[in-house]
Amino acid sequence: MASIDITDVRKAYGSTKILHGVDLTIKDGEFVVLVGPSGCGKSTLLRMIAGLEDISSGEIRIGGKVVNDLDPKDRDIAMVFQSYALYPNLTVHRNIGFGLEMRKVDKATRDRAVHETAKLLQIENLLERKPGQLSGGQRQRVAIGRALVRNPKIFLFDEPLSNLDAKLRMEMRTELKRLHQLTKTTVVYVTHDQIEAMTLATRIAVMRNGRIEQLDTPETIYNRPATLYVATFVGAPPMNLLSATAGEGGVRIDGTDIPVPVPGLENAPPGRRLVLGIRPEAIGTSGQGLPLAARCEVAELTGPELVVTATIGSQRLVATLPASAKVQAGDEIALSADPTLFHVFDAETEQRLN
Ligand code: ADP
Repeated sequence: MASIDITDVRKAYGSTKILHGVDLTIKDGEFVVLVGPSGCGKSTLLRMIAGLEDISSGEIRIGGKVVNDLDPKDRDIAMVFQSYALYPNLTVHRNIGFGLEMRKVDKATRDRAVHETAKLLQIENLLERKPGQLSGGQRQRVAIGRALVRNPKIFLFDEPLSNLDAKLRMEMRTELKRLHQLTKTTVVYVTHDQIEAMTLATRIAVMRNGRIEQLDTPETIYNRPATLYVATFVGAPPMNLLSATAGEGGVRIDGTDIPVPVPGLENAPPGRRLVLGIRPEAIGTSGQGLPLAARCEVAELTGPELVVTATIGSQRLVATLPASAKVQAGDEIALSADPTLFHVFDAETEQRLN
């Protein structure tokens, strides 16, 4: 196992700057997820840790040792990609053991390692098959097995589940979490999927335009997003963002006369333009907390929940209510929400204020 220390790492292709000074310390055994929209630099950062991409400036250390100029093969890492490129003519057994075979590991040791790995991944019954006789999920397990069998210090994953359908993705997500709990190997995992980030990570690095915007536990990213960008990135349906203005007695939602007593913002300078963030799941019909009189536009039953899109004054709001809520389009609804769960951002700087 090993820690990773990334210090002021930058990357440029010619005059195009891709990473603008990334600092990231990953502790031994952590599962850190790099998340962000396509093009924000996640894969570039991961490939630099792997040694597949040169660093323009800065320093990367693995287990305390600077690896800037170390070959990928000497970094004791294993990487799993979105496309798993197995050898089609080799059995699962040989696919998993191929790396060990190349390193001239003796057959008995190799066989034992392959069997242990296959057992961990629950694919022991597939060892004699060829990749063409496997489902997508099984192939991905083999690809993970190929990385796992080497017992590396660090695992790097680049969107490993993107090629799988929704149900398989969920299964493999649970599987990866179980594997990490068992092996406790340090993991860096790239995805654009916020659910994967939330469920797998011990800490999430939310990236934007070549920078880490927030690095925190999933709980903190969800409960106390530092910026508007992070707030909208995590959560489904996404957080409601209502334009609001600081005034006497607290914050006023624009287009309504509702003063909102947000703790800590009683003394915000009057007139300051704000964004009030309320998660759909923080809104209910219990009547407790701040009353929000709304009008239902659309009600969508998802199974466990009723997702209600409503208007409050001139603004739109989404609330996830229990499936049993009797709400239809056109209804006036007495919504309510707990102001201690509100998120307040400065409309200009987009930074969290409360
Ligand atoms: P992500 O993984 O977040 O989708 P990448 O790290 O793959 O993003 O890419 C970040 C940016 O770097 C993108 O704008 C991409 O176009 C650019 N980029 C990646 N590789 C190269 C390259 N070899 N030459 C020039 N630009 C590149």
